Amino acid sequence: MADEVRLLLDAKAELGEGPVWDGRRQVLYWVNILGKQVHVYDPKANRDRVLVTPEFVGCVAPRRRGGLVMALKDSFAAMDLESGQVTPLAPMPKPVPPQNRLNDGKCDPIGRFWAGTLAMDGAKEAASLYTLEPDLRVSLKLDKVGLSNGLAWTADARTMYFIDTRARAVAAFDYDAETGSIRNRRIVIDVPQDHGSPDGMTIDTEGMLWVAHWGGSRVQRWDPKSGKVLKAIRFPVSATSSCAFGGPNLDRLYVTSAWEGMSAEQRANEPLAGGLFVCDNPGARGYPAVEFAG
Ligand code: CA
Repeated sequence: MADEVRLLLDAKAELGEGPVWDGRRQVLYWVNILGKQVHVYDPKANRDRVLVTPEFVGCVAPRRRGGLVMALKDSFAAMDLESGQVTPLAPMPKPVPPQNRLNDGKCDPIGRFWAGTLAMDGAKEAASLYTLEPDLRVSLKLDKVGLSNGLAWTADARTMYFIDTRARAVAAFDYDAETGSIRNRRIVIDVPQDHGSPDGMTIDTEGMLWVAHWGGSRVQRWDPKSGKVLKAIRFPVSATSSCAFGGPNLDRLYVTSAWEGMSAEQRANEPLAGGLFVCDNPGARGYPAVEFAG
């Protein structure tokens, strides 16, 4: 293992995903989607608390009024962090097809929660991207998505970045934070086959994108202006799934991983797959997660 990467939790999560730093409580939330778990990791105490969800949980975000908002398999819900109780929040505009499930998501700069789907049967262009508005209405923002994953916004909130894993690309949209409208979609990063598939993503204070490369054993820092890789951090697991800046100074990079889809032999070769990692000195800083405003 490279010196700069440390294993924090040998969690063996089948599909560790969705790290998000809560600046108010100084904890990291992350999920095991297929394991139906929300994790609350306290770095100071090096303690990880596990809360169980009734269905797959694609992603979570802290909520301004307390607790979490989450994307369950086909709906949005709230979780009380004291009791672990899960409460439905809003119906979908149209039911999510049973072969799809909600996946990665994040709050935009004004606290609107975004989450997209993937097709578990591998159907092409069958996924969508939704928002849960602060007034708890759900809107369909984009359809014909391959596999909805990482999201990030620039500090001025005028650009949204979005990863469609199946397209092997990061797209940019002009963003209107007030209305949540996206337009002028263009590809800013094409990911070569031998880098793995682009999965989760975050942005640093210099506007550079940090992308976890599933199947690529790495997180890379990309310049969305040039489309070039600026830095690669290697991990001792192939399925590096998502990343988020955290810590008191937001200068550590937390990285989730998975063993979904691996054979017994592959798992034996990657005993740390599904672990939670940290890079203590990635050489950049991020922003704390925006809380859901609803
Ligand atoms: Ca993902």
